[in-house]
Amino acid sequence: MASKLHVTRDDFDHLMVPTYAPSSVIPVRGEGSRLWDQNGREFIDFAGGIAVTCLGHAHPALVAALNEQAGRLWHLSNVMTNEPALRLAEKLCQATFAERVMFCNSGAEANEAALKLARRYAWDHFGEDKREIISFYNSFHGRTLFTVTVGGQPKYTEGFDPLPGGITHLPYDHLNALEAQISDHTCAVIMEPIQGEGGINSPSPEFVRGVRALCDEHQALLIYDEVQTGVGRTGSLYAYMQQNVVPDILSTAKGLGGGFPIGAMLTTEKIAASFGVGTHGSTYGGNPLACAVADAVLDIVNQPALLDGVKIRHQHFKRRLEQMGERYGMFQEIRGQGLLIGCAMSPDRPGQARDLMNAAREQGVLVLVAGPDVIRLAPSLIIDEGLIDQGLDRFETAVAAMAEASAEA
Ligand SMILES: *Cc1c(COP(=O)(O)O)cnc(C)c1O
Repeated sequence: MASKLHVTRDDFDHLMVPTYAPSSVIPVRGEGSRLWDQNGREFIDFAGGIAVTCLGHAHPALVAALNEQAGRLWHLSNVMTNEPALRLAEKLCQATFAERVMFCNSGAEANEAALKLARRYAWDHFGEDKREIISFYNSFHGRTLFTVTVGGQPKYTEGFDPLPGGITHLPYDHLNALEAQISDHTCAVIMEPIQGEGGINSPSPEFVRGVRALCDEHQALLIYDEVQTGVGRTGSLYAYMQQNVVPDILSTAKGLGGGFPIGAMLTTEKIAASFGVGTHGSTYGGNPLACAVADAVLDIVNQPALLDGVKIRHQHFKRRLEQMGERYGMFQEIRGQGLLIGCAMSPDRPGQARDLMNAAREQGVLVLVAGPDVIRLAPSLIIDEGLIDQGLDRFETAVAAMAEASAEA
């Protein structure tokens, strides 16, 4: 069959499995925090490919790293190790609590590894009665059967049973509930330091400290899912660094590759020992292309000036979004940390976040939702301040139009 040169959004519906309902726009090129679609229309990108393109599109240093590695070596498998993987592992260990790293290709895989390791570690050290994994409602940990079952959104497991067992869900940010449930049968507690997909929910410092203390008391491992919050997103390299707790296992992906697929599980030497030869694996994990790009990402992101810039940009967004919320009665709260920002729709606008996201796209600015009632922004960590204002102007036009339309109705 001859290949068809011109493809359109309509082709999606008869070519793709219908798990997604993408917008009508098909971007073909990006530069920094701007995208252009098939018709040459420009968009300002506050979505960042869902907190992935942390240095924007086509960052010259990442393009150079990828091209350099592309001309050298693409793939070996884990039958052999490779230089980019070792360099990246060294960098991650130096920058974090970790002493050991395992690479994979996505956030779900990083969590899958973390959860399997926690079970295996408990089995090694405590025997067969320590299997329970505790997670929290509204959490999101990926879409494999294990990670989606651990995640706290029942709609995502509907119709996929039988599901893996030994998983308990509790309310997030309720220390009493955890205290009542956790026991010596618990092998791990998994949490996002800020719930991303679940609505940009930040826990109290007391909860975070309490979770760590309860895990210690019951010899359960604390797994931090930093797939969304990691790699500078909240204004520190990882969010745990601002929460004053140290996890036992950390999963990272999304921003790590700046758009190139990669994930990693970080842990200590002692815990890593339970993943002996043959216990877990991945053909592509530690792929040289992915690791070379991630290495370049870390060099740029893990700098005080860049991380301070994330906090400054947070204030910029927050100030203007709060003004907008008040002026148009659109938002009840602007929340989040760094450049992971949630705009909670006001209570008289239930379920309208998606409408506002679509209206914003019509005005030329891309945003995300986090559940039915929250607009989520996860732009490039180095987005130009002038472009922030330009994008927020477009967003405000969408907000104003929506407020006016409901005033008339
Ligand atoms: C996106 C996300 C995942 C899943 O990552 P994939 O790369 O889509 O598998 C897991 N955990 C959190 C917190 C996420 O935001």
